[in-house]
Amino acid sequence: MTIRREGSAAERRVDDSARMISGPWSSGEIRYLRGHAKEGSRAIAEALGRTVAAVERKAHRMRVELRKPGSRRGIMLSQTRGESWTSGENAIFRTQALSGALSLSLIERRIAEDAANPPALCPACGRWPARHTASGLCFTCYAEERVRQYHEIEQQRRAQREIQAAAKQAERAAECSVPGCRNDANGTGGLCWTHTRVARKRERT
Ligand SMILES: [Zn+2]
Ligand SMILES: [Zn+2]
Repeated sequence: MTIRREGSAAERRVDDSARMISGPWSSGEIRYLRGHAKEGSRAIAEALGRTVAAVERKAHRMRVELRKPGSRRGIMLSQTRGESWTSGENAIFRTQALSGALSLSLIERRIAEDAANPPALCPACGRWPARHTASGLCFTCYAEERVRQYHEIEQQRRAQREIQAAAKQAERAAECSVPGCRNDANGTGGLCWTHTRVARKRERT
């Protein structure tokens, strides 16, 4: 079915309120609700010109599970997003497509491939297909995972450097307490062996 969005805002309002009052759902609308459940109640309500509450009531009666608001779970690349793109997103898409940074042929190939062989969704986000075969994640989560690992390794190295610095400090603290003497305090009373002997000699005299 085609969704008519033409006409002035005033006309649509009148039309919407009229439909909200009368309430009967056409078979086309019912089909639309079933087919677009994954887009959520808001998108369906907008497309059909009905209230969100009406869509949710109808879905409940039909035992159709609608996508939770804000959730992207279950949405695939080849499906519509349920909301229209923002003008900013459209501008980025246009610029990238025109500059060649975004390959339209790759997009078309992916749509065809996904239709022929629907990919499993990424277990981490449940949003994008798990195309990175080595990790079983989507490319977005794989990139995020790499960043996470990078930070973890960095943190680990910093901690190791701190431990080494502390060990060195302890080593320095274990030096002979005679000023200027760099020997280890391996004698008694915080002195090196040499200065321990010097001290003993002094005691005897
Ligand atoms: Zn993911
Ligand atoms: Zn010493």
